[in-house]
Amino acid sequence: MTQQVDTLFLNAHILTMDEDLTQYLPGALAVAGDSILAVGPEGEIKKEYSGRETMDCKGRILMPGLVNAHTHVPMTLLRGIADDLRLDVWLQGYMWPVEREFATREFVGLGTSIACAELIRSGVTTFNDMYFYEEEVAKATAQAGMRGVCGQSILKFPTPDAKSYEDAMEQARGYIQRWKDHPLIVPSIAPHAPYTTTPDILRETADLAKEFDVPLHIHLSETALEVENMRHDEGMPVIPYVKKQGLLEAKVIAAHCVHIDAGEIRTLHHAGAGVSHNPSSNLKLASGFAPVTKMLAVGLNVGIGTDGPASNNDLDMFEEVRLAAFIAKAMTNDPTSLPASQALVMGTRLGAQALHIGHLTGSLTPGRRADLILIDLTPVHNSPSFRRSADNTYAQIVYASKSTDVSNVMINGKWVMRDRQLLTVNEEELLAQAADLARKIDSFLVEREQSILSKLIALGGSMEEESFEVQVKVRIEAADPIVDALMREEIDILYERHYRQHDVYFHFDDPSQGRLRYREDDFVDDKGEVTYARARLTLLGALREGEFEHDVLLSRSRFLAPAANSLRFYREYFKPASEVNIEKDRLRWLIKYKDTEFYVNLDNVTTPPLGYFLEVKSRTWSRKDAQDKAQLVNELLALLGAEGGDVVTKDYIEIVSGQ
Ligand SMILES: [Zn+2]
Repeated sequence: MTQQVDTLFLNAHILTMDEDLTQYLPGALAVAGDSILAVGPEGEIKKEYSGRETMDCKGRILMPGLVNAHTHVPMTLLRGIADDLRLDVWLQGYMWPVEREFATREFVGLGTSIACAELIRSGVTTFNDMYFYEEEVAKATAQAGMRGVCGQSILKFPTPDAKSYEDAMEQARGYIQRWKDHPLIVPSIAPHAPYTTTPDILRETADLAKEFDVPLHIHLSETALEVENMRHDEGMPVIPYVKKQGLLEAKVIAAHCVHIDAGEIRTLHHAGAGVSHNPSSNLKLASGFAPVTKMLAVGLNVGIGTDGPASNNDLDMFEEVRLAAFIAKAMTNDPTSLPASQALVMGTRLGAQALHIGHLTGSLTPGRRADLILIDLTPVHNSPSFRRSADNTYAQIVYASKSTDVSNVMINGKWVMRDRQLLTVNEEELLAQAADLARKIDSFLVEREQSILSKLIALGGSMEEESFEVQVKVRIEAADPIVDALMREEIDILYERHYRQHDVYFHFDDPSQGRLRYREDDFVDDKGEVTYARARLTLLGALREGEFEHDVLLSRSRFLAPAANSLRFYREYFKPASEVNIEKDRLRWLIKYKDTEFYVNLDNVTTPPLGYFLEVKSRTWSRKDAQDKAQLVNELLALLGAEGGDVVTKDYIEIVSGQ
C-alpha cells in the first residue's frame, strides 16, 4: 500500500540545493499540502507514494524556486522611465517626484501584480520587497500565490503613504500585526537607508522588528559616496554606524553592501545578518563591485536580488545569478571563483537564509514548503547536455538557461504556472492598465521638463518663494573708503558678516527660463578662518522688473532653496546650456537707514578678476515701496561716497558672460 500525496513528481532531474547539493536522476518528489513530504531516487519514492496528481517531468530539472533577495516590485510601473543617470539624480530627480505624484495604493497593487507575473514566469517563488503601501504589495502577492517578505518603508521625510516617520511607524506596526501569521507573507520593516533615516528611526525600527520577530530590510553601503559621507559626518563607515544604533540586533537583510571592508563583513556575519547582492543594479548605476567571495568565505548568507525594475530593468533572476558568477570571476581575476553551483545556491537556499526564512524555503528538503520549478534544458540555446559531473547541470542552468525555459511553478504546494500558463494573474488586463498609467506619467514628466522652475519644485524640500529687491551695483576703486563711510552716524549697523562666495550660474537655451545660481558661502571669522559653509540654489528671473533713477533696479528672485545636493547633481539634473563661475570675497552689512533696512555688500570679485563692487539692496513688496526705497538707495550711495561710481546696471554674470 502506498501513501497518497497531493502531487507526485516523477521522472525528474532533481537538484535539491541542500547542504550536500544532492541530485537525483531520475528523481521523484512528493508534495502533501503546502510542503515537501519526501524526495529521492524515483524507484524508492514510487514504492512509498502515489499522487492524487502525478506529474511526469519528462527529464526536466526540478529544483527549488529562485529567491529574489532584494527588489521594489511596484516599480515595474516605472520601468524605463529614466535611465543612464547617477543614483542621486535618478532617485531624487525622477523616482521620488513621480512617486510623490503617482504612487497610490492602486499603483502599488497593480505594479505588484505585474511583477508577480514576471517573477513567476522566470521561476522566482519568493522575493524580498521594500516599498510604500507595503500592505498592498502583501495583498497582491498573496493573491498571486507567491511568497514574499514584504517590508514597509520608513524614511525621515514625508512619503506617498506617510506624512511623517511617526505615522509610518504606526502604520508599519498595524501592518505587521495583521500579516504576521500569513502562510505566504512575512511582513517586515524597511528603514530605507542610513542616509534617508535618522539614528532614532534605525533604533525604533530595530525595536519593532525585534518585538514581532520579523526581518528588517535596509539598503547599506550601496555607493562609495554614501560611505564617504558617513565617514565625514560620523567618523566611521556604514556598518559600525548602524551597529551603534542597535540595528544589527534585528534580523537584518542588508541590500547591496558594495563598499564594506573585512571588519564590516565580520560584523555582519557575527550579527547573523543576510545580504542581498544585486549585480545588475550595481552595474547599471555604477555603484561598484560587492566583495561577494569574501562575504561567502566567512560564511555570510548572501542571496541575489534584482533590485527594483526601474534600476535593472527586469526581475530576471537567471540573468542575475549568471552575472553574480561572472562579476566574481572578473573581480578576483580568477575563473574558478564563484562556480555555477555556488551561484545557484545563492539564488536559492542562501537567498532564503539571507531573508531569515531558510527553514521555510530555498531547498527541496522534506518539511520545507513546496516552492519549486521545472526547467527545460532541451532548447537549442542549451544543447547538448553532459552528465559526467554533477557540475555540468549547474553550469547549464547558470550559464545557458533562460528564464523562459521555466515551464512550471508551484508555490506553497499550489500551481501558479503550468506549461507556461499563469494561473493566478491575468497579464493582459494588467498590462493595459500599466500602459494607461505610463501615458499619464509621460505627460507629467514632459510638462515638468519644460520648466526649470517646475524641475526645481519637483526636487521638494523647503524653499522661499518669489521675492523682489531694489538694488544698485557700483564699481568702486577701493574698499576702505566705503568701510569708513559706513561708520557715519546716520547709518546704523545691525550686523556684519564676512564670507567667500563661489557662484555657478547655469544658463539655459531659453532665456525666459531665467538663470539658476548655485552658491556656496564660506563664512570667515575674524582670524580669516572658514567657520562654516552653506550652499543655496536660487532661480533668478530673466529680466529686470523695473528701473528707477540712477539705474536702481527692481529685480526678481524667483525661488531660493537650500542646496542639499552637490553641484554635480544639479548640473546633471538641470542640464544647463552653459555655466559661468564667479568667486568673490564679500563683506556684508545689514544696516538701518532712515528706519529702513538695507543690505550693503562690498565685493572683491577675484574670478574673473573684476575688482571691487558695492551693492546696496532691500527687499520690497510694492511698486510704491520700491520707488521710495530707490530714493533711499541713491541717498546711501551719496553718503558712502559712491554716487559718482560706474553704475553697473547688469550684474556680474551678465558682464562675465557678455549677455
Ligand atoms: Zn533597492
